[in-house]
Amino acid sequence: MYTPLALYIDGKFLDGDGRQHQDVINPATGEILGRLPHASPADLNHALQAAERAFSSWRHSSPMDRSAILRQVATLTRERVDAIARCLTLDQGKPLAESRGELLSCADHADWHAEECRRIYGRVIPSRKPEIRQMVLREPIGVCAAFTPWNFPYNQAIRKICAAIGAGCTIILKGPEDAPSAVMAIAQMFHDAGLPPGVLNVVWGVPSEISDTLIRSPIVRKVSFTGSVAVGKHLAALAGAHMKRVTMELGGHSPVIVYDDADVAKAARHLARFKVRNAGQVCISPTRFYVQDGIHDAFVEAFVAEMRKIRVGDGLAEDTDMGPLAHERRVPAMERFVEDAQARGARVLLGGSRLNRPGFFFEPTVVADVPDDALLMTEEPFGPIAPITRFSADEDALTRANSLPYGLSAYVFTRSLHRAHQAAQTLEAGMVNINHFGSALPETPFGGVKDSGIGSEGGSETFDGYLVTKFVTQI
Ligand code: NAD
Repeated sequence: MYTPLALYIDGKFLDGDGRQHQDVINPATGEILGRLPHASPADLNHALQAAERAFSSWRHSSPMDRSAILRQVATLTRERVDAIARCLTLDQGKPLAESRGELLSCADHADWHAEECRRIYGRVIPSRKPEIRQMVLREPIGVCAAFTPWNFPYNQAIRKICAAIGAGCTIILKGPEDAPSAVMAIAQMFHDAGLPPGVLNVVWGVPSEISDTLIRSPIVRKVSFTGSVAVGKHLAALAGAHMKRVTMELGGHSPVIVYDDADVAKAARHLARFKVRNAGQVCISPTRFYVQDGIHDAFVEAFVAEMRKIRVGDGLAEDTDMGPLAHERRVPAMERFVEDAQARGARVLLGGSRLNRPGFFFEPTVVADVPDDALLMTEEPFGPIAPITRFSADEDALTRANSLPYGLSAYVFTRSLHRAHQAAQTLEAGMVNINHFGSALPETPFGGVKDSGIGSEGGSETFDGYLVTKFVTQI
């Protein structure tokens, strides 16, 4: 059974009433799973009014009550994991084990926010006169508009919802129309956990029309978006024109530096598994491999051998390591990257083609000798392609790693403390992972620098974007 699809506005699940719909497609088969209703202008207005009304009381709610609801959502996520994960695999394509992993790690996110929201503290500033008391209050910013993508439908949505609700804000979220089931499940869990009507509202439709309406509305005080750099810049500019706070979690093009003192077998094994996670549709996926001369050939051989082991198939099949791409349009996008690299003299060592079967499948692909100006090295591939190039001097790898406007994540493999330290200091990235992959835990901040975004989600920073500072002085 696939999830019933609806809008969720003011505590009610809404469908019918002459609304437009779009089909939701299973990317592993091309079959239609369900029909998703689009919000009409009246629905968006309804959501705005509901969120504004709910904010007037939710902002004064006890952090203990907010915490209890978030805690309950964590519990419900764990209880319902099997059913939600199956629907997530059906509409997004990732293997079932990855869907379960996404959900269970997000239960931890809800728990983390349940704990942290009880510790949103202000402070008292010593005054110059004994009769004056100076206080700094941190208050919820207001109604938030959030836009989340299709690659981690559950994860991206729940982070924003937990941060907004935990801070005492209300939120209107437009989830991914292509993979909506996980966001429907979130709305149902908050509903079942007793969240007051209007605190969370979920809408669907034409993304640009919804974001335009919500961001321009004077009711909305904060905008949070996860997605591509181009769309993020557009939404940030619109928010800026209306003086609204933004959190932007945008794309990346994560460099991997494998130094000649690295554990080559371990690096190849870990990188291959991470590369094909969610078919490479991960903003922190390793995407530019700089490998030092001394171990270049050994690394390439080991990496290709690991990538060759990856079993591609329907995410519901037990032996699948990598599912389809989430959309039909991503397949020609992969072909374009490979063709461009080949035209510039790169060698395809593995894969490089779409699979001749229903659904949107592309082979795990390794391309060597990729020049720095190839599209693969400059545009976010967002797919299962690993471009590899070589370097000699340490500084050269760091300079090339920093050469793009992106600055999300970076990966370093070395046994040298000096190199690890130097890379951590020099790399222009929001997250640097050395000899392992450790980003995206609830207790650690997740976010980018440069074109990769503004602000962090998770960690003790998680509520910063949802709070305003008020100074009170009293005599
Ligand atoms: P896209 O930029 O069209 O869409 C990405 C997401 O943004 C989608 O969920 C979409 O619904 C939403 N979106 C698009 N225009 C919007 C608007 N005007 N207002 C509000 N939301 C809007 O790209 P795509 O073809 O779906 O994906 C391709 C690229 O997007 C990838 O190559 C990757 O760079 C990027 N992407 C990044 C992330 C991430 O986690 N950083 C996630 C998904 C996609």
